[in-house]
Amino acid sequence: MAIVSPVNTAPGERRRLALQNPATLEPIGEIEVQTIDDATAAVEIARKAQVEWGSLPISERARYLQRTLETLLERQDDIIDTVLRETGKTRTEALQMEVFAVGDSLNYYAKNAARILRPEKRTLHGILRVLKQLRIIYRPLGVVGVISPWNGPFVLSMNPCLQALIAGNAVILKPSEITPFSGLLAAEIFAAAGLPDGLFQVLTGDGETGAALTRAGVDKVSFTGSVETGRKVAVACAEQLIPCTLELGGKDAMIVCEDANLDYAAGGAVAGAFMNTGQYCCGTERVYVVESVAEEFTRKVVDCVSELRQGSDGEFDVGAIFWPRQLEIIEEHMADAVERGAKVLTGGRRNPDLEGLFYEPTVLTNVDHGMKIMRDETFGPILPIMRVSDEEAAIAHANDSRYGLGGNVWTRDTSKGVRIAQRMQSGSVCVNDMTMTYGIQEAPFGGLKQSGIGQVNGETGLRGYCHAEPIIVDRRGGKMSADRYPYSAKTDAGMQKFMKLLWGTGIGRWLS
Ligand code: NDP
Repeated sequence: MAIVSPVNTAPGERRRLALQNPATLEPIGEIEVQTIDDATAAVEIARKAQVEWGSLPISERARYLQRTLETLLERQDDIIDTVLRETGKTRTEALQMEVFAVGDSLNYYAKNAARILRPEKRTLHGILRVLKQLRIIYRPLGVVGVISPWNGPFVLSMNPCLQALIAGNAVILKPSEITPFSGLLAAEIFAAAGLPDGLFQVLTGDGETGAALTRAGVDKVSFTGSVETGRKVAVACAEQLIPCTLELGGKDAMIVCEDANLDYAAGGAVAGAFMNTGQYCCGTERVYVVESVAEEFTRKVVDCVSELRQGSDGEFDVGAIFWPRQLEIIEEHMADAVERGAKVLTGGRRNPDLEGLFYEPTVLTNVDHGMKIMRDETFGPILPIMRVSDEEAAIAHANDSRYGLGGNVWTRDTSKGVRIAQRMQSGSVCVNDMTMTYGIQEAPFGGLKQSGIGQVNGETGLRGYCHAEPIIVDRRGGKMSADRYPYSAKTDAGMQKFMKLLWGTGIGRWLS
């Protein structure tokens, strides 16, 4: 069984891939694998289109985003249908994670990009303040390559692209080979909103196409995907000395304190682990619960999981695994955990009642860090719960990971929750909530350790699609330059006296 399979082509013809719906196994179409020549040609087109776009006022570019938002509202059923066909996720998840999240992002950047990217005057420190003026101009980089994964095929394509666009760049998107139609739909939506030709292009294909895009002459790569591929992208960018952001995998920990509201925490654990069938970069992949409340918490989690409905038709809560490779990883982690003594409280197998790629929502206990399920990214509907003696032990275990993307803490004492969050080695942490950071437009999002480099979203992310150019203006019209030469011992001595006055006396320190 394959969800993406090569199509037989004649010698000299382009490679083609055939796709199937993972929930129903029905064929859903074919794509062409585009090559380095296609990528290079796309960059040439993009570079021409960017010139005029980059010189438009941001308010003008914002109008295109506003129209894209209107188109998104009109075409939301198309988006949901496309995402469902490609992924087999639930309709509610497609609506919330793909349509709503993109709408919110379009609305936020249309309204706020002009403020975030407006030229700034910054006051200088000390004596320099009277001599020089500093302005910062945010200049678009040129052509940005966006490479996206399959787990959020529309949102993880649209969100970086729309930010790069409003910052004044042209964009070339390479969506995952498993979910190319969401990327192609993004192009249709931008075109329907009137975005000028050439500013947004999509390259379809597999890893070959992704690698080609990184080497086709783009000015930045915004990559979302696995650690392994991220490393290859980083190498390609380093070799060409172009910047990249890498949003990579995670193994998010949840800490349940003794004073947590256990009903809320159990609900948070279930949503964190099973949303998007666990295929969520910030999904909860391991829980550390304090011994004294572990039994009650675990019972509540299992009760909640037993109510979940899995399916592909009508109303259901947990969808499919999006492709066979992921199912293999889930089964490998489960087999390793069970062999090492993990106890399966519910689930633990492929769903025998459903034909497509379905794995039952699973809760495990008796787990430890010798198991893959606690160390490696599983990216599936598995919730391993580990009992710990106290909160200190929970923090130590949470930090015992090569990943550092997100995490969450549950306690009735918010100040304590924030203190614990500060000690977790994670790019972001939620207190009494989970998986939210990517959806908060103002929050910079990115991982520590092997979970990534750089941040996307918010002011930091948007400015990351620009070069922040400092422009220094001499307040005396350049007179100082005329007085610079000749160098002499006298001017050096004057400089030394000046430093002594500035940093060696009370009045000087006050002035500087
Ligand atoms: P992959 O790393 O396999 O693929 C990501 C993208 O890179 C795909 O478009 C892929 O193409 C492309 N690609 C493959 N090889 C290369 C290459 N040599 N050079 C450039 N691009 C290449 O990730 P998945 O698609 O499997 O996504 C799941 C992973 O993404 C998980 O680890 C998850 O945690 C992470 N992720 C991280 C997020 C974050 O924000 N931190 C958010 C969402 C997911 P193709 O698919 O066609 O092979």
